[in-house]
Amino acid sequence: MKEISCKLLVMGAGPGGYVCAIRAGQLGVDTVIVEAGKPGGTCLNVGCIPSKALIHAAEEFEKVSHMEGGNSPLGISVTAPTLDLARTVAWKDGIVSRLNSGVAGLLKKAGVKTVHGWAMFRDGKTVAVETETGSQVIRAETIVIATGSAPVDLSFLPFGGPVISSTEALALNEVPQKLAVVGGGYIGLELGMAFAKMGAEVTVVEALPRVLAQYDAELTRPVVKRLNALGVEVMLGAKAKGLSTKGDALLVETSDGKNAKVAADRILVTVGRKPVTEGWGLEQIDLDRAGKFIRIDDQCRTSMRGIFAIGDVTGEPMLAHRAMAQGEMVAEIIAGHKRSWDKRSIPAVCFTDPELVTAGLSPEEAKALGGEIKIGMFPFAANGRAMTKLGEDGFVRVVARADNHLVLGIQAVGQGVSELAAAFGLALEMGARLEDIAGTIHAHPTQGEGFQEAALKALGHALHI
Ligand code: FAD
Repeated sequence: MKEISCKLLVMGAGPGGYVCAIRAGQLGVDTVIVEAGKPGGTCLNVGCIPSKALIHAAEEFEKVSHMEGGNSPLGISVTAPTLDLARTVAWKDGIVSRLNSGVAGLLKKAGVKTVHGWAMFRDGKTVAVETETGSQVIRAETIVIATGSAPVDLSFLPFGGPVISSTEALALNEVPQKLAVVGGGYIGLELGMAFAKMGAEVTVVEALPRVLAQYDAELTRPVVKRLNALGVEVMLGAKAKGLSTKGDALLVETSDGKNAKVAADRILVTVGRKPVTEGWGLEQIDLDRAGKFIRIDDQCRTSMRGIFAIGDVTGEPMLAHRAMAQGEMVAEIIAGHKRSWDKRSIPAVCFTDPELVTAGLSPEEAKALGGEIKIGMFPFAANGRAMTKLGEDGFVRVVARADNHLVLGIQAVGQGVSELAAAFGLALEMGARLEDIAGTIHAHPTQGEGFQEAALKALGHALHI
């Protein structure tokens, strides 16, 4: 059996793991990364990137579909557009494959050795990897666990046949005629809306009384309106119960306790993601857990000396950029740098239509701190750029302390607001006050002006409303 030693071993080459390995390599740390699948992990292969490619294609298709028959207010007319999903998926696969090579190249450039195979802990310093050419043992001074997450499956609705997870949904060759989505969280709605735009009849079954329940109702209202406009049926307070005997319908218990059948040729289950904590020898090292996740401190150290954990396997928020930020920080700590972690300004984006962005505290969370707060909101209906994009529905909202105007949180809903996430994150990271945002000259005409106006509104003197 082949044996190698290194200073750092990273388990898993998702956004957390590969960023950690690249940064460690740049800092001269002798690093090996082990990956069972393709570089880039969930995010690049079956998550962020492929879903955004599909969402974009669906958006474009819907736009041109509305232009049929000369009804578009833009004065553009087209004849009967069609969508070949197999070609869309091939295009998406091409992007993924280019990025796979990109990540592999970056690892190589940083001097990181990549081992392909499944890694299993033997003890706290040794990992065995089953590769295509045989077994390999890797001894490392430090190990970073970055094994990510996988879709949660329901015992009464197991994956297989018509029941699919987001992974299969991103690789369909044909648009389902009738799609049932179990779970109205961000993944279910992002994909459900995309398929509705591509022509599927979509029903969302959500057990809670609201979709996107982690956001406040004011923020999600434009998304709910759009779901209605797209003809997506949303069953709230409804529980999925199983698959019909013929496999052609989802069995549901409605909010008033009645049994219902939702006809569907595909049932997409998006009820959450679970950490990948099995199959890699966690039992050999006995790390502390926080529920299903691996417990970490503010520097991503686990309960065992020399073992760090980052990304989805460590809990919420399960976001690629959080995993990357943790990966970079851990690499620097391992290289001897002083680093700390402040999760206050991790933005979160939901790529529904319209998009949602949040950074920092919501109004409710800010109120819960006890002090007085100021809230400024600016609607895109008063923003020229939004009007030129037919994107008037939505707003930017800024939440700040009333006493010293320190910005505590920023939220937005609207077409394309994902691009404002960087400005929101920067404002929080820099400890901006309302006056800093209000005093920043924003380019005209852009939706970013809504951010400045929301801060001005909180100060009591918005200019365009
Ligand atoms: P992962 O990306 O899950 O990577 C873990 C890697 O470890 C995998 O490649 C796996 O093969 C490998 N691995 C596991 N165990 C072993 C082992 N024992 N040996 C070898 N290799 C192993 N996040 C966003 O921020 N923005 C988005 O827009 C977004 N969209 C998403 C859309 C969908 C449909 C999904 C499913 C997720 C989305 N996410 C998004 C979440 C994002 O993908 C995850 O937060 C991110 O991938 C987590 O990174 P990670 O490095 O922790 O783990």
